[in-house]
Amino acid sequence: MSIRKQGQCVCGAVSYTVIAQPKRITICHCKWCQRRTGSGFGVEVVFDKSHVQINDDAVTRYRHISDESGRWLDQHFCSHCGSNIGFTLEAVPGIRTLAAGTFDDQTWLSSDKVERKYVYTSSAQDWADIPDNVDRYEKHFR
Ligand SMILES: [Zn+2]
Ligand SMILES: [Zn+2]
Repeated sequence: MSIRKQGQCVCGAVSYTVIAQPKRITICHCKWCQRRTGSGFGVEVVFDKSHVQINDDAVTRYRHISDESGRWLDQHFCSHCGSNIGFTLEAVPGIRTLAAGTFDDQTWLSSDKVERKYVYTSSAQDWADIPDNVDRYEKHFR
């Protein structure tokens, strides 16, 4: 089945098209995701890199080294408006994530269509509720 779904940052300088279903959605409550999003958790739509066509002239990357693993994670954001676009990581070279909120159409990401995993629930804030009956992991599933 052929898919073409689009998204962009707030100002539109960064835009992308994905051409396949995501592998999953990872909802991450780790401290790094809390800081980089300025929110309770990151909502990452995980793709095979080859399925993402991104106009990334306006993308800036910030390289963070994990305290836990010592490996890098590159945060991608728009140089103009600062919107979080997603990230790539040394630990899993074949994938890139796109921030769920940047997609134009959210309906195809519903839980009956795409698997969701809740990770690093051990560091979740008490104001960031995690639903019952979901796939949840104290740390990661890798
Ligand atoms: Zn922008
Ligand atoms: Zn995280």
